[in-house]
Amino acid sequence: MGGRYHVVCHECAFEGLYEDASVAEGQRDAHTSDSGHQMSLRDISCQEAPGLSQ
Ligand SMILES: [Zn+2]
Repeated sequence: MGGRYHVVCHECAFEGLYEDASVAEGQRDAHTSDSGHQMSLRDISCQEAPGLSQ
């Protein structure tokens, strides 16, 4: 198992990498409701390293 979920804020430096989708969603929702920032949540479970694949 072991998923990989990358949470990124588009409006500040907030960023996180989580193995649990529910945790990732929780962090995203918490930051969104806290700051109103636009967030992305990507499932990168199938990628070895973010940004290095083609
Ligand atoms: Zn932010």
